[in-house]
Amino acid sequence: MTAAAASEPAFSICVYCGSRPGEAQAFADVAAQVGHWIGRHGGQLVYGGGRAGLMGVVADATLAAGGRVVGIIPRVLVEREHAHRGCHELHVVETMHERKRQMAERADAFLALPGGIGTFEEFFETWTWRQLGYHDKPVGLLNQDGYYDAMLSFLQHSVASGFMGAAQMALIEVGTDWRALLGALVHATGFPAPDLLSQI
Ligand code: AMP
Repeated sequence: MTAAAASEPAFSICVYCGSRPGEAQAFADVAAQVGHWIGRHGGQLVYGGGRAGLMGVVADATLAAGGRVVGIIPRVLVEREHAHRGCHELHVVETMHERKRQMAERADAFLALPGGIGTFEEFFETWTWRQLGYHDKPVGLLNQDGYYDAMLSFLQHSVASGFMGAAQMALIEVGTDWRALLGALVHATGFPAPDLLSQI
């Protein structure tokens, strides 16, 4: 673990996102904007602890904007996902379960950005944990540039097919505007987010 803790963060948000950057520049751009917003508002980013892909982008942007960063990474992924040594806290854990448990415990809210199978898994598990009552923290999904359109259509198909209820869908916040979604999630944690609509 490295130490460089600043003052107590205003809020703590866990961001799930791709260990790849994605094809469109818009994905990296929004990851940078999210990280910048967290840092500018004195927040703490909790994430998977890597430098690869969008994960590295959001962490670097949070750090550059003065935010606090907590990375939690399984030992077997330290090389593959390029563990970020610039985090205020970098926890190297033994299992993926331990990573997810710590990420969930350290955050007041969760936001999934575009990503791949790991991001899907984290998002769905956090959602199902909320449904099961393991936590009651806000969970958001950023549908940047329609990336999640097909998945959201399938979820509606599941509701229409009787395998999910509207109440389950109501447990997640889905948005296309990163600033509004992030502001709403953080506001729901109790942080006043006075600059909800600011251009920061
Ligand atoms: P991906 O979206 O596939 O690029 O992965 C994003 C992050 O999710 C990476 O840090 C992966 O290590 C992580 N990941 C992959 N599988 C899982 C899992 N089962 N639970 C939690 N995180 C995972």
